[in-house]
Amino acid sequence: MDKEYAIGIDLGGTFIKGGMVGLDGDVVYSTSIETQAETGPEGVIERMAGLGRAVAEGAGIEWGQVRCMGVGSPGPLNTTDGIVYSAPNLAGWENVPVVKMLEEKLGCCVTLENDANAAAYAENWAGAGKGASSMIMLTLGTGIGGGVVLNGDVWHGKDDAAGELGHMSINFDGPRCNCGGWGCIEAYASAPNTVRRALEGIEEGRQTSLKAVLDGGDQITAKGIYEAAVAGDQFAAETIEATGRYLGIAIASFVNIFNPELVVLFGGLAGAGEMIFGPARQEVARRAIKPGSYTVKIVPARLGKQAGIIGAAGCALRRLEISA
Ligand SMILES: [Zn+2]
Repeated sequence: MDKEYAIGIDLGGTFIKGGMVGLDGDVVYSTSIETQAETGPEGVIERMAGLGRAVAEGAGIEWGQVRCMGVGSPGPLNTTDGIVYSAPNLAGWENVPVVKMLEEKLGCCVTLENDANAAAYAENWAGAGKGASSMIMLTLGTGIGGGVVLNGDVWHGKDDAAGELGHMSINFDGPRCNCGGWGCIEAYASAPNTVRRALEGIEEGRQTSLKAVLDGGDQITAKGIYEAAVAGDQFAAETIEATGRYLGIAIASFVNIFNPELVVLFGGLAGAGEMIFGPARQEVARRAIKPGSYTVKIVPARLGKQAGIIGAAGCALRRLEISA
């Protein structure tokens, strides 16, 4: 029987997503369960194994047709040894041999990949970057994640620590970042830091409808700022556009380093469309070296929330292919 499928598992702090993925990156079936992180590594890994079996059953695919299972996990981690060193949203995870534990439970080949790298691989395999020989992806959210795909493979670096694109510094004495550095792009353009810049503007007395939100006792969110901008609030529009500009400044450096065919933006604020993409493209055109500055395409991701499972499965298939 041909093994024409791979299972992709996307491990998050709240939910674990799982899907049966075909050899072209098509999702045949997907579902999710709660992580129940309080059950510790042993409990969560048991749930991941159960999810793998449930995905096969839900897809109506026999275990014998499954070539491998790929896990996308927060890191730091080691893809060669299959170990998660620690995970910020998973308490008690320290040097967990995820691959060995899952292989013992499931009896199939399992691989491990950083979740942001998996999502980048997915977009290159089956999404916005399909067919691109080189691609950079930035994941916009509470933090800014990244992935670098060169000639069809994730670039891992020596210690699986490559692709931390959110920690490109754009200001040597800028605000402190969660990573311990200063002036990282994450410290300007993540959702919480977009909110921080809005709050600073309001503090300085800028006129905006967002002030009424605060006065009403509610919190300002990045989504709220975007909605105010769409409704015509000038200050809110400037705040979102500045996020796009900051991203563009970092992307200009990525263009100079990698000369990528494509830069893909994924997640929350990437949904703000031209308000983000316009200023980002402008900064790249102004700053990056020719011809990379004008040949690069900066586009939104296409696979949405399924990128994690598609990429985990894809990275597993690719790893088997390379080792074969
Ligand atoms: Zn940083």
